[in-house]
Amino acid sequence: MITLPVYNILMLPEVNYYFQKDYLKKLTQENLEPNEKVLFLVLREDKSKDELTPGDFYPIGVTGTITEADSDGGISIRAEERVQIDTLEMENGKINVAYFIKADIADMDEKSLEEEFKAVQSALLQYISNFQWGIIARNYVLRWKSLEDMAAALSYQLNITNEEKYKILEADTISGRHELIKQAVYEFIEMSKVSVDAQRAQTESNERLYREDAIKKQIAILQSELDKMHPESVTDIRKFEMKIQDSGMNETAKKEAEKILNRMKQEGENSHEYGMLYDYLDFVTALSWKKEEFCRIDLADAEKILDEEHYGLKKAKKRIIQQIAAMELRKKQSGSILLFVGAPGTGKTSIGQSIAKALGRKYVRVSLGGIRDEAEIRGHRRTYIGAMPGRIMEGIKRSGVSNPVMVLDEVDKLTKAYDGDPSSALLEVLDPEQNNTFTDHYMNVPYDLSDVLFICTANSTDTIPEPLLNRMEVISFQGYTETEKLQIARKHLLPKAMESMGIRESDIEIDDEVLRTVISDFTMEAGVRGLKKCMDAICREAAVRLVKGAETPIHIASGELRDYFDTHPIHHEQIHVQKNPGIVTGLAWTKAGGDILFIEAMFVKGKGQTIITGQLGDVMKESVQIAVSLVKSLFPEKAELFEKNDLHIHVPAGAVPKDGPSAGITLTAAIASLVTGQRVDSEYAMTGEVSLQGRLMPIGGLPEKLMAAVRAGVKTVFIPKENTEDLSEVAAEVKEQLEIIPLEKVTDIFEKTGIKSNP
Ligand code: ADP
Repeated sequence: MITLPVYNILMLPEVNYYFQKDYLKKLTQENLEPNEKVLFLVLREDKSKDELTPGDFYPIGVTGTITEADSDGGISIRAEERVQIDTLEMENGKINVAYFIKADIADMDEKSLEEEFKAVQSALLQYISNFQWGIIARNYVLRWKSLEDMAAALSYQLNITNEEKYKILEADTISGRHELIKQAVYEFIEMSKVSVDAQRAQTESNERLYREDAIKKQIAILQSELDKMHPESVTDIRKFEMKIQDSGMNETAKKEAEKILNRMKQEGENSHEYGMLYDYLDFVTALSWKKEEFCRIDLADAEKILDEEHYGLKKAKKRIIQQIAAMELRKKQSGSILLFVGAPGTGKTSIGQSIAKALGRKYVRVSLGGIRDEAEIRGHRRTYIGAMPGRIMEGIKRSGVSNPVMVLDEVDKLTKAYDGDPSSALLEVLDPEQNNTFTDHYMNVPYDLSDVLFICTANSTDTIPEPLLNRMEVISFQGYTETEKLQIARKHLLPKAMESMGIRESDIEIDDEVLRTVISDFTMEAGVRGLKKCMDAICREAAVRLVKGAETPIHIASGELRDYFDTHPIHHEQIHVQKNPGIVTGLAWTKAGGDILFIEAMFVKGKGQTIITGQLGDVMKESVQIAVSLVKSLFPEKAELFEKNDLHIHVPAGAVPKDGPSAGITLTAAIASLVTGQRVDSEYAMTGEVSLQGRLMPIGGLPEKLMAAVRAGVKTVFIPKENTEDLSEVAAEVKEQLEIIPLEKVTDIFEKTGIKSNP
């Protein structure tokens, strides 16, 4: 007799069991041959053979006989009779059992057994018919002959414990045992049904969702077809729904737009908020949310475009090309922020446009002049009535792309007001670390500005806050010489003006001499804005004459220019022969380029005071004090003059530079000329800061000042020695027309101009 300790198997008499040989090998070491007798002993707990003790066995077991041993490792055992264990001992892993037969009490007749089995079987068949696999399982179910067969076969599927399984075996009467089996089987069917129902409900609800989505999509397609057929009847809501979908917005922006759209739906067209909500959606959906691909840039082409559209400007163009090359190498759409500084009309803005063209990108200009409020840059919060987006985002919208070349014009004209500092907002716009999530207050969602190429322009760097200036690379536009202006007029301004008026080349004739006269007598500027206006005026007048049937080509003569411009030639601040001591010509740098200025000094009867007129700034006033002290110490013998008189210094207001240190030498020379009674030659002009020790210190804007000197007819210019290096920046044409003399000390100027104490 081979003992087989089993766990969690519903063991019943008169049932065929089928085991894997490997499974049985773990239970016994005996040979499992057909016809061998076995005894199934039911374990209370799942324990391995080595751990077993006599107490681990339930008292009822089942005998059986091995009926078959397959070649592929399957062993069939027919369970036969229930037995009650009498004694059980264990010895070296071997189980010795004494038992006696405990026959079932047969309390049911054949018919009722049959009926009972059929009822349970059909319930099971009914249940499995709900599944596709039910067809296969059906044959299996039909093969069972009794409830016991069924119970044993479902042993693992039934939701009952090892103990409950044993209880079925333990039941002495057939009816009692069948009750337990039926309960387990019906429970199994019901439980499965519940989980199947839950699953089905889930599937149905999923199906409903899928269906709903599919219907919604269909509706959307049909609706957009309808909208295309009748665009006039598309509602605002519908229009924005489509725009939001098509805009390519990021998730945050889309969420915000949908929120606003929902509010628009709820509020209805008559609500006072509707307009504001409409404007918001109109704005955000008009922005480009698409990231533009980096386009390869051909440097040679870019250079050609810059040269074609702008004459000269070599230094600026060189720096621009370097910037483009760096962008190309790094495959980036933006780079360092260039700041073009120079007088009006020197081409700063228009070259920005050429850069865009050279890069094959959209151009947009944003004017910052006069901005006082941070909200103008960063937008107003939408809680304000009449809130608007800031100028940066407004510019992005106008450009229609996310990577325009954006020229920020007049960054030096930003002013700070009580309600926020616009320059700090601008700093954020320009900061590559932050500007990929630039949040305009009006939009309230971030927008990526990192692909925008920013170019700034300014007339001077003086008023630009330090942190902002540090972000930028300054490129100065010095203004044009007369020859350059002539070329610009001939090659650019005149052809453009002619084209816009429909004048052909053969229609008018205008000599270089005439253009020169226009430049010298009708314009006075560092740039070419006035010159452009003159070219336009000439073409307008020529057009009238052409239409009236004038003979072509119309020859434009210098003498006629007044007819064209309808203005007098400009009175230049030309040098005039200075007859009196105390008048000296200085050179000044102004935002409009360079200019000359006359400093006049005179003694009037008084008590040693200094009178200053000409709307001078504080710095200039200090320069006057230094000049006075210097002259007093250099010409001590003239001290009496200062004591008995008041010294009056006048600087003509129109020519007053923003600050005055560079007039130090001129002031000193004027006062010295006055006290010594030595006239200073009117063809001399000078610029330089003076220290109290009389040392000459360097000044800025030398190229502009020298150009102004040439314009005014100055012949000799005195400059601080330390500025000599800057001469390389000055156009050769200018240098040729001037004698430029560098000086170290203020006394040098006395020597050069012939100011001596006692002539
Ligand atoms: P800015 O921005 O410095 O005030 P703009 O760029 O507005 O000056 O230039 C004024 C006008 O002069 C524009 O029509 C521009 O095309 C023209 N212009 C300026 N510089 C040049 C140049 N170097 N070559 C050709 N045209 C020029």
